[in-house]
Amino acid sequence: MKLTIFHLYPDLLDLYGDRGNVLALAARCRWRGIDVEIRRISLGEEMDFSEADILFLGGGSDREQSLLVQDLSTRSSELKAAIDDGLVMLTICGGYQLLGLYYQTGDGKKIPGLGILDFYTIAGNKRLIGNVIVEMAPELLSSVSGNILRQTDGVEVFNTMVGFENHSGKTYLGSELNSLGRALRGYGNNGEDLQEGVWYKNVFGTYLHGPLLPKNPHITDLLLGLATKRKNPAYQLEILGDSLEKAAHHAVIERFLT
Ligand code: GLN
Repeated sequence: MKLTIFHLYPDLLDLYGDRGNVLALAARCRWRGIDVEIRRISLGEEMDFSEADILFLGGGSDREQSLLVQDLSTRSSELKAAIDDGLVMLTICGGYQLLGLYYQTGDGKKIPGLGILDFYTIAGNKRLIGNVIVEMAPELLSSVSGNILRQTDGVEVFNTMVGFENHSGKTYLGSELNSLGRALRGYGNNGEDLQEGVWYKNVFGTYLHGPLLPKNPHITDLLLGLATKRKNPAYQLEILGDSLEKAAHHAVIERFLT
């Protein structure tokens, strides 16, 4: 098995260690003997989405967002087709916001998004900052525990996602879209409806930095499981020992939820 990860705009979108998500994906591939190629692609460079198994977009400031949306919007219909074909994507904060209809900055300027998913983001006058604990949506949990990872005795399935948020954008999902879950702590999408992130086909958007994946190995494996199954439906991800990752995950919950 070989996976190709496209890391888009790594020089522009890398807030709060978002690059660590790509490192976590690559590490969990290597530990299983899966070959992994990371392609760093930036402004003006060629990208053929049919060559990608996982596409990653990190977070960035408003300025960087408006710069690269012009670049990426020239490929939005190709990207939408790849998403509808099951491309696995993880997008964080500014990268997540880009998938939507628009981002309205604090001074009222509307930065158009790629318009691939039905949501919009409006900058509020207060930054939403802090640690976040999300109770994952049951449908999402069942894909982590059921279809993707083999259920074996002793494999603990997390029902939470932990991370750190820092954004002024407040995101409002269209009624047809699912969130990743409910914020038990923190603001999530907008600080009003308690929803966090978005989930559409194999695309996941979230406000969680941290970076997200090292402390959430079940999410890493969800992405790897979806990507490997897309290449070979019979492929089963090997279960890895997760004691350090679990300790890090539970430390956040103990510190910030109890
Ligand atoms: N510029 C966006 C906001 O503040 C995204 C920030 C980020 O990626 N952390 O909402």
